[in-house]
Amino acid sequence: PTHESNAQQSKQRNPYAGAYPGNLFMVVAPSGAGKSTLVNALLARDPAIRLSISYTTRKPRPGEQDGQHYHFTTVDDFLARHGAGEFLESAEVHGNYYATSRLWIEEQMKNGHDVLLEIDWQGAQQVKKQFRNAVEIFILPPSLSALEERLKKRGQDEPNVITRRLLAAGSEIAHAAESEYVIINEHFERALAELQCVVDATRLRFASQYARHTALFVELGIHLPHAE
Ligand code: 5GP
Repeated sequence: PTHESNAQQSKQRNPYAGAYPGNLFMVVAPSGAGKSTLVNALLARDPAIRLSISYTTRKPRPGEQDGQHYHFTTVDDFLARHGAGEFLESAEVHGNYYATSRLWIEEQMKNGHDVLLEIDWQGAQQVKKQFRNAVEIFILPPSLSALEERLKKRGQDEPNVITRRLLAAGSEIAHAAESEYVIINEHFERALAELQCVVDATRLRFASQYARHTALFVELGIHLPHAE
């Protein structure tokens, strides 16, 4: 076996090898679970977390800014970037394309910044294959009727879009079991505190602490577990 394949094998066996000092969080939820409100509140109170701005071919909703909520783009541009390998993951959701920039994420994590992705279950599956330490947090509504109410109140989309999203919500929820953490968004403040808890605990994982404080760990004689 070549030198590269040995390194690759030891990386596969050893969960600590190659970890970045920054953590990767993925927040997944059906439309109407209150994901964006929760995430925005988390970002406001924890400025060490940086939100990844996705590319999408969806049209901007009223009030949405290019480069702030999404990088809004055309199907042609999206497919060109996809072909050039720019995306860490991509998916078609509700008839539009969405994707996460690979370069930006890696740069942030290498520099010790925590990154949060608001993506769907398909994207989360792709990311986990590449970043085994990525943490998936699923947001659930407290009931089906609450979900319906929230989708109707939002009122930003055409009625047929709302129906489509309600149907899609069911298939998104069907993937909740793939996530590591679940937050039931009944009381906003409690849900927010729970989200912060997951973030704080993740920062204390061995791999994350080792990557952030390598000099200390070496000084104390703490070594990475050997790959078998
Ligand atoms: P919306 O159009 O309402 O902003 O988002 C629709 C869905 O697309 C949500 O479930 C959201 O999480 C998902 N989404 C947004 N950005 C991305 C992305 O970059 N990748 C993937 N896979 N899904 C995304």
